[in-house]
Amino acid sequence: MPKNPYKQITNLSKSQKNRRLRVLQQASLASDTCAVPISVVSNTVAPDPDIEINHANAEFFNEFNIYCPSSSTSSSSTSSCNSSSSNDYFEDEYFNECSNTDSNLSTKLREWASEKYISANALTSLLHILTSSNPLDLITLPKDARTLMKTPKQPLISKKIGDSGEYVHFGLEIGLRKTFLKYSNSILKNVSSFKVFINFDGVPIYKSSGGSLWSISCSIFEIKHDPFIIGSYFGTKEPTNVEAYLEDFVKEASYLTINGLFINDRHMTFNIEGYICDAPARALVKCIKRHNAYFACEKCQVEGDHINNRMCFADVSAPRRTDIDFAAGVYDDHCREKSPLLLIPRAKLVTQFPLDYLHLICLGTIRKMLYLWIKGPLNVRLSGVVVKNISYQLIELQKHISSDFARKPRALSELCHWKGTEFRLFVLYIGPLVLKIC
Ligand SMILES: [Zn+2]
Repeated sequence: MPKNPYKQITNLSKSQKNRRLRVLQQASLASDTCAVPISVVSNTVAPDPDIEINHANAEFFNEFNIYCPSSSTSSSSTSSCNSSSSNDYFEDEYFNECSNTDSNLSTKLREWASEKYISANALTSLLHILTSSNPLDLITLPKDARTLMKTPKQPLISKKIGDSGEYVHFGLEIGLRKTFLKYSNSILKNVSSFKVFINFDGVPIYKSSGGSLWSISCSIFEIKHDPFIIGSYFGTKEPTNVEAYLEDFVKEASYLTINGLFINDRHMTFNIEGYICDAPARALVKCIKRHNAYFACEKCQVEGDHINNRMCFADVSAPRRTDIDFAAGVYDDHCREKSPLLLIPRAKLVTQFPLDYLHLICLGTIRKMLYLWIKGPLNVRLSGVVVKNISYQLIELQKHISSDFARKPRALSELCHWKGTEFRLFVLYIGPLVLKIC
């Protein structure tokens, strides 16, 4: 008998493989009915699908994880093929042969995946879960997705906002409690105060219509966790009634800021460290004018100049805006109305709103500069040879970019498809190098 009878042949050393093959060949030659019915991963011995094997040999080969061609009459050889179908060395050329014995479940899963357009990754992940599960767990699985996902039986209570919008408030305090209890029992013992970041963002839901979702989410600075949703608004356009949109959030945030949070008889103070938003979201929740207005700058009182259909803020010495003046309503040329966020105690609507680097630098200045160098006026445009050279260098650098970066650099001819991370890679890492060479 071989030393490792249950070990797959792919996992054996070269000498162990040779020994295994010798033993198997001897066994097959000793059989009266099965001359050379052996095929292994190494394909050392070619399989012969026409050959017949007896039951004893079929069990023997099956035990050693060896491919055994199915016999049209033998039930044991059929079961041998079934078992081999789950192994890595399943040969394509025998697919048709073994597909006759394909299990009902496999067929159903295959049809379901095709019908529902399930991606290969998702299907592989499902198969991993199914094959590694206890069969008893599979029997007890619910038949309905709502039971599996623990969808609440009571519908969520939403309130109307404006003409066509609806808002659902999931709760700030509930989210904080769940996150603290889930992620950090040890942190709870040591921390007496915590800070949160609040995010307001709008995403279009449909390609064919203007429906968009405006969610309010929160992350706790002291814990590494996935942000949770505080509330969500859905409408055909952005929330027109900001007061109604922010009402529930402002109430809860005000209460927590004053009273703090009690978890497991432990009191912790609550502070909003900052609001993370892009320019349209900042303009919405701060109730200020849009970024292309004359007094749009959120950090200083500069007045813009309208040049070539663009708003330019050239004066860098304008006085800075302050939290106190903002709350006092001094900036009437900057604000549209009083923001509901000012009702939250200790609100600082200038310093609590950092400007977002992704839109301003990566997708703003850097993209604009690259477009000017490629398609801009002749006095700033780079020559075709230089542009080609830069593209060549960018592609050459692809193989040196580690997996820490989400994307590899692309040629300048694909600039219109570049993502924010590609502009960041260019400005912080490879841009200075490439421009120096070219
Ligand atoms: Zn400014």
